[in-house]
Formats: sequence, structure tokens, C-alpha cells
Amino acid sequence: METIDLIALRKFSKATGQPTHPEMLDARPIEHVNKIEITEEFITIEFNEVTTRYYNANEITKREWEYKYNDDPELVAAIAKVIDLSRKHLTVLPENVSCPPGCAECCSGYEPFVSTGDLTRMAEHLGMTEREVMKEYIVERPSADGYHVGWVRKVTDDVNDKCVFLMGSRSGRYYCGIYNARPGDCRDFSPIGCQDVDEDLPRTSMFTPGAAFSPKKRRKTRTKL
Ligand code: SF4
Ligand code: SF4
Repeated sequence: METIDLIALRKFSKATGQPTHPEMLDARPIEHVNKIEITEEFITIEFNEVTTRYYNANEITKREWEYKYNDDPELVAAIAKVIDLSRKHLTVLPENVSCPPGCAECCSGYEPFVSTGDLTRMAEHLGMTEREVMKEYIVERPSADGYHVGWVRKVTDDVNDKCVFLMGSRSGRYYCGIYNARPGDCRDFSPIGCQDVDEDLPRTSMFTPGAAFSPKKRRKTRTKL
């Protein structure tokens, strides 16, 4: 937890002769606010922060900032404004937490890792054996701990090319062809803080995805004699 002493801020205000003003606060913690708690002495803001990219996904961590204040009414009024701003911000947050329909820039930019559990799910979904899925759709690269078996292939050898399971022919119309069975990496990929979004796409548009991905090979079903 990090603490900002607002009393120091008040001193700063005195030094400049300016009234305490919310804009002087570091508003970073309120960008992804989850919870605000106010006690007599503290305002605690709990928020999510995108820290690093981990296995192609943004890792969202919970953090807390604690604002300390005293009875200064001017300061409390300033804090109230900050809280109002954060609540307002929360109402526009859905812009950041949902992808515009049909955007799939991330399905070209990254290679999602595939765990053993993902492989089983994908094989089941595609009606193939795990060995066949590995051969056709996974670049084999087992992790040292045995958790991952590799990553999803691209349509060509170019790592910037589209994921082999990406369907649709243009931005705004893309969709995942194995959506229900997609790897955990794809499930966890967060649009919060996404730098790759196709900004030209309207978030209000809708489209119906087409046919699901159809594998080249299907597991041969045994027939009883
Ligand atoms: S599996 Fe689906 S969601 Fe994951 S990268 Fe490929 S197309 Fe995108
Ligand atoms: S907004 Fe970002 S996370 Fe969402 S589909 Fe587009 S590139 Fe992927």
C-alpha cells in the first residue's frame, strides 16, 4: 500500500497561495477504481493496475492507495471532488473494459500459450486427438514445468500473421473460430489498457459471427462391428 499525505499537499497549497485543488492530486489510482473507503482519518482507494505483460496477457493486480487527511474542510471538499471524478470515471470505464466487436488485433499480435488443459479442451472441441491438434495447430515448445505445450500457430510462418483459428476477413468482422475452447491465454487477455485496439471500430456495432473453425482432420470414430 502506498500512502500520500494530503497534509503535505495542503502545505504546498499554502506555499503557492492557491486553494487545494483536486487536479493537484495524482489521479492515477482512480483510473481503475474498485472501491473507495472513507474513515475519519483515511480515504483508501482500491484499484486495479495493469503491470506487465505475462504470457501475452496483461496482468491486472490489485493495489491500494491510502490518502491521509485531517479535519480541514477545504481539503475534505477537495477529496469529495476527487471521489466524484472517480465515480464519473467509473461510468465511462466500460469503454476500456470491452473490446469493440470484431476487433482482433491481439489475435495477430500475440501467440497465445497453450497449456495441457487447453490442449485437451481444444482436441475435444475440434473432434481430434491431442496429437493431431499438436501437429496441425500448435508450435511445440513445452515449458520447463510441463504446464505449457507450446503456442497457437499463425496462418503462415510470420509471427505477425493471424492466428490459425481467427475467422472473418477484416477488422470489425473478425471472430474466434474456437471461442468456447480457446486457450486460457486468450480468455485472460484483458482489453484494459490494450494498446492494439482498432480505434476506427465503433463499440456500438454488432455482427453475427459466421461458421465455427472447421479442422482439416477429424478423429476417426470407431464403428462397432
Ligand atoms: S484462439 Fe481465438 S481468441 Fe485466441 S488468438 Fe486465436 S483467434 Fe484469437
Ligand atoms: S481491443 Fe485489444 S484486447 Fe480487445 S480484441 Fe482488440 S486488440 Fe484484442
